[in-house]
Amino acid sequence: MEEEASNGTCRSGCESAYCSEEDELPCGRESGEDINRTCPLSSFPFGEIVKKEIDVDVAVIGNGPSAIFLSLLLSGYKLFFTGSHPNKILREKLRTDVSLLEQDFPYLSEGLEGRSRNPVSLLFDTLFHPNADIGQTHLSSLRWERDESSAISHVVLGCGKPGGVWHGVEPSTLTLSHQEWLDLPLYSFNDWKKDEKRKDEKNDKNSKWRAKAGHVAQYYQDYIHKMSLKDNFISSVLIKRVEQIWDCPLSPNSPGHKPVTPPWSPTRTSSNSVASPTTSEGIIAESEIIHSAKCMCDKGVCCPTIVQCNPEWMLQGSYLKPSCCKRRDQEEASPTSPLGYSSSPNSIAVKSRKIVLACGLTEPKRLGIPGEELPFVTHSLSDFKKRLKCSKRRGRSGSALVVGAGMTGADAVLYCLDNDIHVNHSFYQDLSKANNLLLSKLPSGYYLEYQRVWKLMKGLETSHLYTPLEGTRVKSFSTNGETILTSSSEIEQSLATSVGMIAIGSQANLGFLPQDISSVLGIDPSQAIDGKNNSVDIDSFSSQSERVPNLYALGPLAGDNFVRFLFGSGLACAKSIQNSLCKTNLSPTQSTLSSTQTNDTTIL
Ligand SMILES: Cc1cc2nc3c(=O)[nH]c(=O)nc-3n(C[C@H](O)[C@H](O)[C@H](O)COP(=O)(O)OP(=O)(O)OC[C@H]3O[C@@H](n4cnc5c(N)ncnc54)[C@H](O)[C@@H]3O)c2cc1C
Repeated sequence: MEEEASNGTCRSGCESAYCSEEDELPCGRESGEDINRTCPLSSFPFGEIVKKEIDVDVAVIGNGPSAIFLSLLLSGYKLFFTGSHPNKILREKLRTDVSLLEQDFPYLSEGLEGRSRNPVSLLFDTLFHPNADIGQTHLSSLRWERDESSAISHVVLGCGKPGGVWHGVEPSTLTLSHQEWLDLPLYSFNDWKKDEKRKDEKNDKNSKWRAKAGHVAQYYQDYIHKMSLKDNFISSVLIKRVEQIWDCPLSPNSPGHKPVTPPWSPTRTSSNSVASPTTSEGIIAESEIIHSAKCMCDKGVCCPTIVQCNPEWMLQGSYLKPSCCKRRDQEEASPTSPLGYSSSPNSIAVKSRKIVLACGLTEPKRLGIPGEELPFVTHSLSDFKKRLKCSKRRGRSGSALVVGAGMTGADAVLYCLDNDIHVNHSFYQDLSKANNLLLSKLPSGYYLEYQRVWKLMKGLETSHLYTPLEGTRVKSFSTNGETILTSSSEIEQSLATSVGMIAIGSQANLGFLPQDISSVLGIDPSQAIDGKNNSVDIDSFSSQSERVPNLYALGPLAGDNFVRFLFGSGLACAKSIQNSLCKTNLSPTQSTLSSTQTNDTTIL
């Protein structure tokens, strides 16, 4: 082992780490090992830290396209209908003189259909990409104005670079979507390519409309500079802990006057209401909590004098090396700073009135079987590739094993085929009945590489490098690489595996939330939030949690997994936040007047 390390071929611990240079070493195992062991925080350039304690109206956790779009709206960008749209009914319903943020979403989205179950996502998509699903190309039906006076103070916190999960995808990977479906408003991916003087990729004719993931990541990162949003973004910060503080004194005349403090158990009392906050002496009467000394409106003029008691949120995070983004530091914060959190040079504390979960699905799902944490088993595609290279050099016997019939599983299979590595592919589905697999729904003539995997899985094409294991589930992995699988008829088989890749989907990691909140968020609160079978239970027209007031969820957490549809939840969220922060308490006409008369309005 020493010899291998000294000639630079393979470092010590080849099988438990990567066969790579020091800076590529992992930040700890997926099991949540302390980040400081392998990814010292001191290696981060702390000289760049400018903000340690922040007080804003809105704190957004996550910095992918969902958060970027929300930041655009909260920065005072307003969207208006141009008056032109192929759908006559929609055209007649929409007003051109009032921002979409002030129009009636339930009325406008009624009857719209498409590939999202969120009505506001369908509404935004049909205005941004009219008739895209039937292959037509229309100009966007939206025009934009900037009214800086309506901006809402906010901060976007993300542990990697702005662009979210796109920075973690292998840069050369081609997108599934059309390039223009990844666009954010006002500065398109195509505009970015022109600015970058990038020529269209010389892909074959079936993939020339797809983009490289690395370019998409760079586009999102550059977008926040182009649109002057960057001051709202703090990157390389991992939010580790969030608390809800009920700074809500009752009217001093009330009997039993006490400040309300957590823990608060927001159990549902009816379909649309939550239980009242509790003191140590029990539930406070609804009428009493109405009296709050705090008005959410900064100017005070548009607020009712008596407002509903609102909690505030406290967030605490640490600055990280961006590559260590996925790991969670288990250390406890010490209550020393004015905001009640440790103010060590590498920590950040944020106080806000609202929090928005835009943190995507970053946690790979696990099978929960014996041996899943063994060093030759991984849940990450890039890790799989590195381990395969390592295993090839070390001459480890056995085939690669890929578990899962989704797109990531297909990518892992393709990598093996392209590199002359035999791969066993296990998936539990019976393909004669599985009609909800994305691979089975790809239009013929497109995505030729994925079509090939689908044909191999179905046995319509064969390769000496590929063995399909249809209708099987992995039961266990052993240290020597032995892998036990069972078929649907409970017949066991044993395989020798060099490197195993589990690709069975992703879920949200909301471990930073207090347990009493995270445990009530999902549509099925007992299950993890995975954006597919279970998302955060939100009100579709505000994107606010049905159970925890002042908490919003965007993108995959709200059930939309394609960029094209993420923006609906952002739009609904921005509208709700504006309304509740009393910024839009004027009548639509007054509001329109003010937006065109103020000096700082820019027509775009
Ligand atoms: C391999 C791959 C290919 C894809 N291809 C396509 C495609 O072709 N077309 C398409 O439309 N969509 C595609 N998607 C899906 C698309 O990437 C997502 O829908 C989209 O990025 C979601 O955006 P988001 O802003 O909601 O979250 P994300 O992009 O997931 O960003 C969330 C960010 O929050 C960060 N975060 C999480 N927890 C914390 C925390 N505690 N503190 C700080 N930061 C945190 C995460 O690290 C992440 O960077 C693909 C996804 C993958 C993985």
